[in-house]
Amino acid sequence: MPKDVMCEVDSCSYWGQGNLCQADQIYVVNQREEEAETSEETDCHTFKPKHH
Ligand code: SF4
Repeated sequence: MPKDVMCEVDSCSYWGQGNLCQADQIYVVNQREEEAETSEETDCHTFKPKHH
């Protein structure tokens, strides 16, 4: 398990100072039906938009 999850998506409600994700766990999904081959084809499914 990663010790720290670095993330620059500061529009997410789990985002914290220093680009540290504050979620207890995150769920990363494959965007493709086939095996992902690049990082661009993966996605954090735990993302939750900040409420304004
Ligand atoms: S939940 Fe995902 S998108 Fe949100 S801060 Fe953590 S890693 Fe980034």
